[in-house]
Amino acid sequence: MGFLDKMKSSVSGVSAQQRYASNIRKINAQIQSNEKEIERLTMQVGIQCVNLHLEEPGTEYENLFAVIRQYQSENRAAEEKIQHLREQQEEEEFARQQALQEKEEADRLARQQAQEAREATRQQAQAEKEAARMQVQAEMEAREAAHQRELEFARQQELKRQQEMQVQADAESKVCPGCGGRNDLDSMFCVHCGNPLSKEPEMAQPDQKQDD
Ligand SMILES: [Zn+2]
Repeated sequence: MGFLDKMKSSVSGVSAQQRYASNIRKINAQIQSNEKEIERLTMQVGIQCVNLHLEEPGTEYENLFAVIRQYQSENRAAEEKIQHLREQQEEEEFARQQALQEKEEADRLARQQAQEAREATRQQAQAEKEAARMQVQAEMEAREAAHQRELEFARQQELKRQQEMQVQADAESKVCPGCGGRNDLDSMFCVHCGNPLSKEPEMAQPDQKQDD
């Protein structure tokens, strides 16, 4: 065998080995794919079997079924627990909202009462101020009335005094019949108009006639 033939044979050997390996890989891939499919179908068969026969007494799978039933029971209990927790959470949230609303309502009432108290205080202060003002006015009016009474009394006193002085002056003088002027008791003629005056000062009065 020449050198070139040896080379050809060697190359051909490498190429054949690569073909074997490639084929084996393809076949292995097919096997793995099939096994996955078998696993999937087996699981479906198992699920179907469990659905149909789980509650059936005395099957050959009873030991496994009992464990499955136990897990299912635990899960039902767990779901009830979750439901219970959710209800508790909702109740607490509701109570919290309720308390918040009550607090807001109480705050609102407190603000309203404080406002009303301030208003009442303001109105009372205003009423007291008005009462004080009216009292001052009443006192001023009373003082004014008393002052007017004093003035009137003094006026009456003065009038009385003038009348008394008039009476006294008339009694101490001769009144002229012509002009009404006043003259001394012993005057013979009026100093105002020259009219002759009567001898007696009260000649005009009829109960004191002295015609001799
Ligand atoms: Zn006279």
